Amino acid sequence: MDNCLFCRIVNKEIPSRIVYEDDLVLGFNDIQPQAPVHVLLIPKTHVASMNDVGREHGDLVAHLTSVIPQVAEKMGIKDSGYRVVVNCGKDGGQTVSHLHYHILGGKTLEVTFG
Ligand code: AMP
Ligand code: ZN
Repeated sequence: MDNCLFCRIVNKEIPSRIVYEDDLVLGFNDIQPQAPVHVLLIPKTHVASMNDVGREHGDLVAHLTSVIPQVAEKMGIKDSGYRVVVNCGKDGGQTVSHLHYHILGGKTLEVTFG
């Protein structure tokens, strides 16, 4: 998607601090971190939100999910623990319409669900 911020990051048209990359997914540091470690993990193909995930994305989502502990290990938070957040739509607080997992850690996170 031409005008999608995260597609542009995937295409390296916009710089990011990449922490993980393979053929299918990209992990990079959030520009406004909410915790000492705050990585965004995204599929390289454009999927607008969790609402657009279907059975055809099974392999992709499985892979995306399996990369989370690899990112956590690389960022040094695998054993201390972390939180994975996916915001969806207006009420969910989604501001970028390209599916992304927030991986947050590096401190004891407050338990807040809205
Ligand atoms: P969400 O609110 O769940 O849609 O999350 C979007 C996230 O993208 C926010 O945490 C932003 O700080 C982050 N963000 C926006 N622009 C950039 C960028 N250019 N590089 C890295 N992270 C970004
Ligand atoms: Zn996109």
